[in-house]
Amino acid sequence: MSYGNRKPHFVLVPLFAQGHMIPMIDLARLLALQGVAVSVMTTPQNTARFKAVIDRANAAGLLIRFIELRFPCAEAGLPEGCECYDHVPSLELYKNFYEGLSLLREPLLLYLRQQCPKPSCIISDASTPWTREIARELRVPRYVYHAPSCFFLLCTRNVGKHKPGADAFERLLVPDLPHEVEVVRGQALGLFDYPGIEKLRDEVAEAESTADGLVMNSFRELETAFIDSYQKDLEKKVWAIGPVCLSNKETGDKFTRGNKMNVDENYIRNWLDAKETASVIYVSFGSIASHSASHLIEIGLGLEASKRPFVWVIRDKEMRPEVARFLSEGFEERTKGLILRGWAPQVLILSHPSVGGFMTHCGWNSTLEAVSVGVPMLTWAHFFDQFLNEKLVVEILRIGVALKANTSIVYMADDAEGLITREDVEKAVTELLEGAEAEERRKRAKELAAKAKESMEGGSSCEDLRFMIRHALELTDEASDA
Ligand code: UDP
Repeated sequence: MSYGNRKPHFVLVPLFAQGHMIPMIDLARLLALQGVAVSVMTTPQNTARFKAVIDRANAAGLLIRFIELRFPCAEAGLPEGCECYDHVPSLELYKNFYEGLSLLREPLLLYLRQQCPKPSCIISDASTPWTREIARELRVPRYVYHAPSCFFLLCTRNVGKHKPGADAFERLLVPDLPHEVEVVRGQALGLFDYPGIEKLRDEVAEAESTADGLVMNSFRELETAFIDSYQKDLEKKVWAIGPVCLSNKETGDKFTRGNKMNVDENYIRNWLDAKETASVIYVSFGSIASHSASHLIEIGLGLEASKRPFVWVIRDKEMRPEVARFLSEGFEERTKGLILRGWAPQVLILSHPSVGGFMTHCGWNSTLEAVSVGVPMLTWAHFFDQFLNEKLVVEILRIGVALKANTSIVYMADDAEGLITREDVEKAVTELLEGAEAEERRKRAKELAAKAKESMEGGSSCEDLRFMIRHALELTDEASDA
């Protein structure tokens, strides 16, 4: 894309959580591929996670750099080094984490005033509403980046508007929706509808209503009706520029995405190469959820009973002594499953032809990553937007099977017990992979994947990305003419 003799410069302000930061880095790459210079706000711990990806992008000639600021842990009442969402040691401290994040307003403003060429636009995560003042000070356009699905944003907005007093367990139809969707009230809360962060919730709403546009990691063909409704309701331009994971074309990009691995890329590839097409179940629940030992053991025994090959990601903090004992006392030898400890190259694994199903918590990135490669999902939502994403996958897109009817309405903590059994897992894996319905589901998933690819290769998402850049430049021109 040509911009005459000026180089657009976009500043990205993420939430330091893997599910927000990873797609922001992908967005940085997409913008840079359009000839935009990009600066991404980080902190030392976050830089460490993404340096390899950015180094690769720079080596390929893309202009992306970090604005590295010190995260004010002590000032926010957080332990030293607690700079990422998955480092926060308890539920009560998430409020402090958001406070710490908001303390970056002054240092970021100072940096942007002193060191950079003036930005053409700021794209900031919805959870950083304080960027509003920065944009106003610098007189630059500001877009809000929404990490969840538009379906989730629309449902929670409509439920919040029309059913504010409903009881957490009440079942209700989401008002004003192009589809009939029944939800449990407590599963349709907005990301900031939790006690203790009411001020942040109001600031987020205000920052959205005053933004110059909204950017979403989605594609029109996936959520047309919901994107149109949201846009109409907010009277605001929505750009669906995803699935951004499809910008990871090279194996090296897929392998270095998000964090460091404990495993060798070739080992994973060789393991998958040896399996039949669409036979493997990939099991991972994202970067935050963690399970009790009993849940992990039930998952393991269910996978074993299904007699399917599997790749199972177990996070470091889940590796309690009971789990380690369970795995080492015969499980790994009996099943010959591939167990990855810590962080897995998810996009690389999902895009391997041997993978036939994804057991997921329905985080929006994981959902889109499965959609992008046409892998049907076995769903088990744990918290936040995941309940509604699960509905989208199972009931509307019909590319997934629910592990079981999900009745939890609170943040599922790692001491939760008895929510699933090995029989649930075995039954759901079989349903996902076997029979005529499974075949139909796979076909639908593949069709959707083809549309996702098209949207990113010159289709709707590509167009939205270009319109989004142009719009910012037009606003910048207007501001400098005024
Ligand atoms: N992810 C990964 N390897 C892992 C765990 C997670 O690459 O071992 C990535 C995953 O591909 C996705 C992100 O981390 O891009 C998780 O985001 P999501 O919205 O799915 O869930 P969250 O972590 O926010 O619950």
